[in-house]
Amino acid sequence: MHTKDIIKRARGFAKPFRVKDGSGFRLNDIDPGDTLHLGSEDKPGAKEALATGIQALAELQDMLYAQDRWAVLLVFQAMDAAGKDGTIKHVMSGVNPQGCQVYSFKAPSAEDLDHDFLWRCMKYVPERGRIGIFNRSYYEETLVVRVHRELLEKQTLPPELVTKDIWKERFQDIRSFERYLTRNGVIIRKFFLHVSKGEQKRRFLERLENPEKNWKFSANDIKERAFWDDYMEAYEDMIRHTSSPEAPWYVVPADNKWFTRIVVAAAVIEALDALALRYPKVSTLKLKELAAAKQVLLGGK
Ligand code: ATP
Ligand code: MG
Repeated sequence: MHTKDIIKRARGFAKPFRVKDGSGFRLNDIDPGDTLHLGSEDKPGAKEALATGIQALAELQDMLYAQDRWAVLLVFQAMDAAGKDGTIKHVMSGVNPQGCQVYSFKAPSAEDLDHDFLWRCMKYVPERGRIGIFNRSYYEETLVVRVHRELLEKQTLPPELVTKDIWKERFQDIRSFERYLTRNGVIIRKFFLHVSKGEQKRRFLERLENPEKNWKFSANDIKERAFWDDYMEAYEDMIRHTSSPEAPWYVVPADNKWFTRIVVAAAVIEALDALALRYPKVSTLKLKELAAAKQVLLGGK
């Protein structure tokens, strides 16, 4: 398949799930089981398309690295067992590991808590020429910290700064931070893998029943599941307030892993394609140097 066709197909998969108007966004409008027009009989074809897409992604990343101008930051947020890890693994499977870095944000350390909330993430913003992946991110500051108020207390902020507006202020600060990064050549794409409560239950049971998956299960996962509705409210509010043209959210149906991967790969391909990447042009002086080097090699033993 030609690159042009791949890009066109990628647009078709990514566009329906890109949040265009944050203010009107409703999580209920997105069906976690959506696979667009594809049925299970299309799965093999879809897998093949993903493989082609991954190859195209690898080529684009090679140019991104060679050009060394833009950086790409991919942010992943989701409930447990929505498939963040598997999606990252599959979508990035073709790219050169030298040009890619993944960082997983867990509960903050004492040192993290002694700083402003963006501090620990800033250190891991990707360098130019790289794709950086945040597996969870500063968005947890408006999700888990909002659902569990006691986590906010642990941050020992000056009490007069903790008002009813705190979440609105965090959204504003995140938007400013993302605008700042964008203006510095960091392309941001954000993914919420939207799994249903029923599918999460099915995946948890699989983790409990299958010895090879036991390690993936943590008792805390069940505790967090009990707060499902609070999380959905927090996610919806977060997407409403932090969707922007420069750093869009994609709400990706996550009940079918093969489909999730296609949508994420498509969005990343589309983002890279929009940069009109090219291998750096070599200067006339450099071309002379290359010609001279060739002569030396051809003339030698
Ligand atoms: P997996 O379960 O697939 O291995 P995970 O991302 O769920 O991956 P865990 O170690 O299970 O990793 O969980 C990390 C935990 O850290 C999550 O419960 C998340 O909410 C929490 N966390 C991340 N960032 C923050 C934060 N800023 N403040 C408080 N808790 C946070
Ligand atoms: Mg977990």
